[in-house]
Amino acid sequence: MNAKTTAHQKMPTRTVAIIPTCRDMSRLSSEALDHNHPTLMKLRMAVHLIFCRLCRRYARQLRWLNRAGKSMPDEVLLGVQLPPTCRDRIKEALRKKGQ
Ligand SMILES: [Zn+2]
Repeated sequence: MNAKTTAHQKMPTRTVAIIPTCRDMSRLSSEALDHNHPTLMKLRMAVHLIFCRLCRRYARQLRWLNRAGKSMPDEVLLGVQLPPTCRDRIKEALRKKGQ
């Protein structure tokens, strides 16, 4: 980072076109599981979904996985552990993403 770089320039851009792209929709659909998007964004997403069969399918699959995860008993989820190599790969990927 040089002296002219500001913290704002380091932030990832979250700009979404008027009609989100499929790439935007992937992120937006995932975010929609955890919180409500503003009404205008929901409308823009709905317009995309009218025309994009693949994103409709992806959003439907995400919702199904979310419901399936929530319906699992806590005992099942608490007993699940990732192998150490898998955890290390995830940690490394997150570390790289954070840079
Ligand atoms: Zn799409």
